[in-house]
Amino acid sequence: MIQGIWDQFLKIVKEEAGSRVVETWFKAVTLYEWDSIRSIVYLQAPNSFVKDWILGNYNELVQHHLKRLLNVETLKVVFLDFTNENIEKKLTDTTNKKTELVPAVLDKPKHALLKRLQSKNRGSFNVSYQFETFVVGPSNSLASAAAQAITENPGELYNPLFIYGGSGLGKTHLLHAIGNGIRARNKKAMVLYQTADRFVNEFISAIRFNKVHKFQAKYKNIDVLLIDDIQFISNKEQTQEAFFHIFNSLYDSHKQIVFSSDTFPQNIDGIAERLRSRLAWGLVTDIHVPSLETKVAILKRKADLHEEFLDDEVAHFIAMRVDSNIRELEGALVRVMAFSSLTNQPVSIELAKKVLLRVSDSTGMGVNFKQVIKCISNFYPYSLHDLCSKKRNRNLSFARHVAMFLMKKTTDKSLREIGSFLGGRDHSTVVHALNKVEKYSETNPAFLDQLRRMERAIRK
Ligand code: ADP
Ligand code: MG
Repeated sequence: MIQGIWDQFLKIVKEEAGSRVVETWFKAVTLYEWDSIRSIVYLQAPNSFVKDWILGNYNELVQHHLKRLLNVETLKVVFLDFTNENIEKKLTDTTNKKTELVPAVLDKPKHALLKRLQSKNRGSFNVSYQFETFVVGPSNSLASAAAQAITENPGELYNPLFIYGGSGLGKTHLLHAIGNGIRARNKKAMVLYQTADRFVNEFISAIRFNKVHKFQAKYKNIDVLLIDDIQFISNKEQTQEAFFHIFNSLYDSHKQIVFSSDTFPQNIDGIAERLRSRLAWGLVTDIHVPSLETKVAILKRKADLHEEFLDDEVAHFIAMRVDSNIRELEGALVRVMAFSSLTNQPVSIELAKKVLLRVSDSTGMGVNFKQVIKCISNFYPYSLHDLCSKKRNRNLSFARHVAMFLMKKTTDKSLREIGSFLGGRDHSTVVHALNKVEKYSETNPAFLDQLRRMERAIRK
């Protein structure tokens, strides 16, 4: 029966989230046991990557459908942290004593840093989202510094703090880091994190059940208010009105308020002018797309938190594949790690290629070095011979760097292969070139545009 339920569940997830999600994540998971008395489902994931990913991204989906399929109102999902071998061993050991298998405390962070941080502050914040786990680079340094500053002096420096930026760039992470940080300093501080859409729902239900006073009182009593994705309040006039009063009351009593949004205040549509202006009263700061270097640093940090080692080359390979979003970057890393652990192979560039080129990414396929060189020769006055030579005048070096960049971007070749093709250069030279091109393109829109045109030409 249990297997039937899980199969049913997979079918639903496939419909709802697509077959890729099922293939990548849920196929690797087994429904290990269903404790109907205590209403606990035990799932087993092949490693902590898969577990964390599912908990972080599909928790609601799992809860919602398993509850329905198991016909219960409440449900606890516990991930068993065993490797396959251990599970089998346990099974034979305890055939008649199943309850001994219940390791409800297993769902704990593995890494020493996370353990230490968790013991410091128990609360409603995501324990992995801390300043210590947030990689700072040029794309987020201002937002991160401001967030740290208000954590040290809530209500005194920038009020409100407004952080905006694209999806998956670390806004929620920073809001939780502030919450975690303030709690760690002051256990008694009343810190509330709320997404704007939950705020809207809470307000609507307060109206329905005649509890608006209680709702207002709850918000006016807190010390620090963190509102994620404030843009979701747009076009909700009544909620905005209520929020306006909460804002004023907190602001007047020097309580810290922090907002995140996908765009800056002036750009949020459907929001009352007086509220909009208040959003920008304090410090407005943005997070933008991270550079290659920052992406590599983030990947290494994430791997480290899972007690895995990621070498430079694999980190670069993954970072080059994912352009704009750290959530996707992390997803790519997790897929590589999960595949490595499922197939019992070490994480290598070949393995990363297999995983990332197979899934969703047809880009690198079929492009070879020659096509890149041909394109470079159309844009710069240099031949293959020049590019491979030891000559290093400025313009030629730059064209060579661009060639390396485009090779990395459009082919599935390793840094070593690229370096060796272009005149026997080593892999650190290629890394240096990639960073240079990346940096230059960040500050020079005309060059960025040219780079994109070249990439399109190559892929054609
Ligand atoms: P947003 O709220 O902007 O959509 P999130 O805060 O949810 O983005 O970030 C998405 C994922 O990327 C999270 O797992 C987060 O930990 C990670 N992330 C984003 N920025 C960083 C960073 N600078 N260092 C480490 N992890 C990051
Ligand atoms: Mg977010």
